[in-house]
Amino acid sequence: MVDKINIYDLIIIGAGPAGVSAAIYAARQRLEMLIISKDLGGQVAKKAVDIENYPGFSKISGPDLVNLYDKQLKANNLKIEHDEVIGIEKDGSKFLIKTKSGEVYESISVIVTSGAESKKLSVPGEEEFAGKGVSYCSLCDGPLFSNKIIAVVGGGNNGFESALFLSNYVKKIYILEYSLQVKADRENQDLVLKHKNIEIITNAKVLKIDGENFVNSITYEDLTKNKEVTLKVDGVFVEIGYVPSIYFVKDLVDLDEKDEIIFDPKTLSTKTPGLFSAGDCNVSRYKQIVMASGQGAIAALSAYEYIKKNKHE
Ligand SMILES: Cc1cc2nc3c(=O)[nH]c(=O)nc-3n(C[C@H](O)[C@H](O)[C@H](O)COP(=O)(O)OP(=O)(O)OC[C@H]3O[C@@H](n4cnc5c(N)ncnc54)[C@H](O)[C@@H]3O)c2cc1C
Repeated sequence: MVDKINIYDLIIIGAGPAGVSAAIYAARQRLEMLIISKDLGGQVAKKAVDIENYPGFSKISGPDLVNLYDKQLKANNLKIEHDEVIGIEKDGSKFLIKTKSGEVYESISVIVTSGAESKKLSVPGEEEFAGKGVSYCSLCDGPLFSNKIIAVVGGGNNGFESALFLSNYVKKIYILEYSLQVKADRENQDLVLKHKNIEIITNAKVLKIDGENFVNSITYEDLTKNKEVTLKVDGVFVEIGYVPSIYFVKDLVDLDEKDEIIFDPKTLSTKTPGLFSAGDCNVSRYKQIVMASGQGAIAALSAYEYIKKNKHE
């Protein structure tokens, strides 16, 4: 638990690449700051295949990059309050930030860097078997499926990268894709084709996941033949994309049709003065570590300018 102070200059919500970058920049401005996050690393911590497109590292694993985040936060005397923010209100010139554990923190400014979380399939059995064979993180859970048969739902890059990682452990993988064609890029498709234990099934609409104590099957509709097919599997990895984690700040920001936060590209400010947002929770076509980090830095510098003007009012 981080020592609580009366009113912070800045509260950063989230500690993925955007939040960590914002915190490093804010620390250099000597701001009284608190980071509140469910975890450290966000999506990077869950990345199953090495990162090869972040400047300075020709190849680095997600967990190794998160370890470096941890070291850099500690070197700047920054600690994370591990909690979930469930609401933000603006009370006059200050923000009230409420967390799941019941704490209420006050601050002059806020940077939301809450990123995105896995989209759910929303089929029967998914919720019931979550953690009992249904997983959203191949890196975390892959080793538990040693020598088993599994399905990866989603034929985009995330699904293909997951399958490539899981192929190190499991006996057989079915990749189920809703559309007629997979969406993964050519490089990932070529890599998957080299694995004899990965079978790609397209035009497959997942209908349900079944089991007893743990998952034992997945049923899909073969949209070409209009028939139901049940595959015997021990696990289901859901890789159908991400949705922004913004429920707690909805009332203070404008959102686009995908529920992504609309921001001023110059300052990363939102429609509420003093509230900034950065990273994958924002409207942007490309979601990458380098972009989230860049936005985090801009948001921190803009928050600093805002705090300077508003601190003693
Ligand atoms: C499988 C996969 C592979 C990828 N590969 C690459 C790659 O090779 N190269 C690349 O550049 N990018 C890659 N990306 C994209 C990259 O990981 C994201 O763009 C980046 O992580 C976004 O950073 P962020 O800080 O905006 O959000 P996130 O990483 O999503 O972090 C959000 C943070 O907010 C916290 N949080 C959320 N809600 C709350 C709340 N209510 N209260 C408190 N805390 C909260 C979370 O716990 C987390 O710490 C990949 C993504 C995935 C999923």
